[in-house]
Amino acid sequence: SAEVERFRSFLRIPSISFDGPKGSYAKAVAFLSDLLKDHCELKVVECVPKKPILIATLKGTQPSLKSIILNSHYDVVPCVMDKWNCDPFAAILTKDGQIIARGTQDMKCVCMQYVEALLRLLKNKQRFLRTVHLLFMPDEEIGGVDGMGKFVQTAEFKSLNGGVGLDEGLANEKNAMTVFYGERAVWWVKIRAKGPTGHGSRFIQGTAMQKLITAINHLLSFREEQRTKLHEGCRHAHALKLGDVATVNLTVLQGGVKGDNGQYAMNVIPTDAMAGFDIRLPPTLPLDEFEDMLKKWTAEEGVTYEFVYKTPSHNVSSIDRKKSPFWATFQDTMEGQLKVKLECEIFPAGTDGRYMRQAGMPVYGFSPMANTPIMLHDHNEALKASTYLEGIKVYEKLIPALANLPKELHD
Ligand SMILES: [Zn+2]
Repeated sequence: SAEVERFRSFLRIPSISFDGPKGSYAKAVAFLSDLLKDHCELKVVECVPKKPILIATLKGTQPSLKSIILNSHYDVVPCVMDKWNCDPFAAILTKDGQIIARGTQDMKCVCMQYVEALLRLLKNKQRFLRTVHLLFMPDEEIGGVDGMGKFVQTAEFKSLNGGVGLDEGLANEKNAMTVFYGERAVWWVKIRAKGPTGHGSRFIQGTAMQKLITAINHLLSFREEQRTKLHEGCRHAHALKLGDVATVNLTVLQGGVKGDNGQYAMNVIPTDAMAGFDIRLPPTLPLDEFEDMLKKWTAEEGVTYEFVYKTPSHNVSSIDRKKSPFWATFQDTMEGQLKVKLECEIFPAGTDGRYMRQAGMPVYGFSPMANTPIMLHDHNEALKASTYLEGIKVYEKLIPALANLPKELHD
């Protein structure tokens, strides 16, 4: 079909985050602009040069109402070429109907499903009460700092007057779709220890290494507690998901004294040692509570911690029908109209959605891929053409439902 062909053309633009600014980002934005230019008001914002953000706006009949933001990112992660069975940017369509390409799941599918759904709705002369903004972001795969991270701080973002946002989710292997209403907080922490030096042949007490190991062991035993909780939970009715527990991983370990020859001096006790941790904290764990634990674990004299990155607060979007009319509309459309079973979860990693939530907007992370193995960032990333087409139909229902939600108290 024409839709599948357009999707494949978009997949052929190799918009890998790291080299996107050299030209493929511009190509992706030009491709999308071309499809939308006759139907929407287009604007390109560059918070950082060569990292364009495309905003496509369809004005509502009551533009003062809070708008609907359909967010996606057009960048993709790199590929380990020799692990792929085909060119990841050829977007081949196999005999059994699979499209194989980088970005099929994460998340060029959603970029194009928004576009196709909107074009179909406009073809049928549909107009909406609320303004709809399609956002296409660069750099999500490298943290979004120069993309959504900077964009939410602009007057441009505020002027969008967003009432609710949709963003990416993950495929669901069962006959259901997953909605992510929050994310775990990301904390990257460095722990440093200082202690006396001395000759490696003696019993020096309270060394930097000893202190660091004590602190590390506290974090690792907390890690083990959480891991056990996740696996024990699996045997109960309310199985826990990765997004429900904390993960703690020791990712950096540094110490030792180097001589002039660049070699480690094996007989010198170092005065400094450092460990780095990647920590992800679920909304059920209050952040100040965890920081109190961290303080206790690093309380020994000569031990300190610092943040390399710290999500300042948990931001969870309401899935209480009474509190969020947008959520109620989303749920009614999916479960009532489309008969799709929804599974609500906390996203285990980070997406651009967190920046919008931090800016105070409810965001639901959702990629309509039922009965599909999760292949984001994987070799031979693929999506069935039929699943892709089904997803367009989902947005054909969701967009008008959300955009025609009448005036609410918060408008
Ligand atoms: Zn993504």
